Amino acid sequence: MVKCRDVMDVMERIAPKRLAEDWDNPGLLVGSPSDEVRRILVCLDVHEKIVARAQEEDFQMIVAHHPIIFRGLKKLRTDLPDGRLLGALLRAGVAVFAAHTNLDSAEGGVNDVLAARIGLDMASIAPFGKVDSLSESLGRIGKLPMPMKAKAFAEQVKNKLGVANVRFVSGGNRLVKKVGLCSGSGAEFIERAAMLGCDAYVTGDVRYHDAQRAAALGLHVIDAGHFATEQPVVGILATRLTKELAGEVEIAADNNSKDYFETV
Ligand SMILES: [Zn+2]
Repeated sequence: MVKCRDVMDVMERIAPKRLAEDWDNPGLLVGSPSDEVRRILVCLDVHEKIVARAQEEDFQMIVAHHPIIFRGLKKLRTDLPDGRLLGALLRAGVAVFAAHTNLDSAEGGVNDVLAARIGLDMASIAPFGKVDSLSESLGRIGKLPMPMKAKAFAEQVKNKLGVANVRFVSGGNRLVKKVGLCSGSGAEFIERAAMLGCDAYVTGDVRYHDAQRAAALGLHVIDAGHFATEQPVVGILATRLTKELAGEVEIAADNNSKDYFETV
């Protein structure tokens, strides 16, 4: 019989907690390590539909990327969205585990999955975001097998991630060979990408003045969205958990969630 604790041990091997940023809140956030688990649902966000599905389809544990408790909990009011979700989880006895920036940084985690998905040569991939880590960090840097025109690369990212559009910031005429990336929200690394000689940078949540800085630095930026740059890890993580916990527990990946942003 599998307990939450066993899943936590497997997750610690996949995304060691020591890799999490200081401000983060990964780990078991709802439930107890001794809870019994027969079915696990893997997803990006724990939102209302995920909680409803967990109840309906008898999942005892959710493994999510984004922590459902993040900024500190001052109240548990069930008339407000956060309290309503947590209340429903507790009533249904559904445990929630989060692997956030530790899964971003981990080998084979969110950033490696993104790098492979957008067509980078995986033999060229190196860590990127932090200078004090040798093997793992937020973000990756890597090369395309062949140089491409920037807009053609933006098209490629769009198609590989299956999104309706990406936002493109031109860094001039340079071809794209060396690519920096940071899944989710990575505009803070634009300067670093430029400094490290990247031709293009792929991330989400880019704002107007970030775009302005990138253009001035001659760096192409492709904002493919927070959701689309992270969602690919969900299926991969579910597969890894299935392998690790073979035969002992059923694991499903959430393929129903959508980006909150739509193109109108
Ligand atoms: Zn994220």
